[in-house]
Amino acid sequence: MVWVFVKVVIDRSNCTSCGTCSDTCPKLFEPNPEDTFSQIVEKFRLNGNIAEGLLTEEFEASACEAVALFCPVSIIRIED
Ligand code: SF4
Repeated sequence: MVWVFVKVVIDRSNCTSCGTCSDTCPKLFEPNPEDTFSQIVEKFRLNGNIAEGLLTEEFEASACEAVALFCPVSIIRIED
């Protein structure tokens, strides 16, 4: 297995709660139950931050990169 480390950041203040990311990749994204904006699923959160995740497997990183392209307001940022 190839291991990579990719950071994903959601600019939650500009999320429209459209659900595209969580519908497409529920393993990584979910709507926050209180404000309905997208957040990182707990397992992948970086230091407990709901807006930042650290992906360590190639599959997870690829999935996240694909979903980032689908966000209609382009607020999912990928950092290698
Ligand atoms: S796809 Fe973008 S705008 Fe839609 S819920 Fe996800 S982060 Fe928010």
